[in-house]
Amino acid sequence: MRCVICKSSEIQTKIVEEEIKVDRDIVLIPIEVLVCLNCGERYYDRKTVRKIEEMKARLIKHDLEVKEVGKVLRAHVG
Ligand SMILES: [Zn+2]
Repeated sequence: MRCVICKSSEIQTKIVEEEIKVDRDIVLIPIEVLVCLNCGERYYDRKTVRKIEEMKARLIKHDLEVKEVGKVLRAHVG
């Protein structure tokens, strides 16, 4: 498999933190995906997409334990 962005063949399975937006919050979900080591492009297979959707559904129902690790801040411009 080659990266569609940079044509590199250095694609490896890595644990990344996927950001899922729930209302005004962003939840980080550690998930295994294929990542291009050259440009950082992520490749999601059908199984991974399904898992992310399942996690999102659980977050909406508050069926997943989460811990605050930081804050999302917005810059006040103008
Ligand atoms: Zn790439």
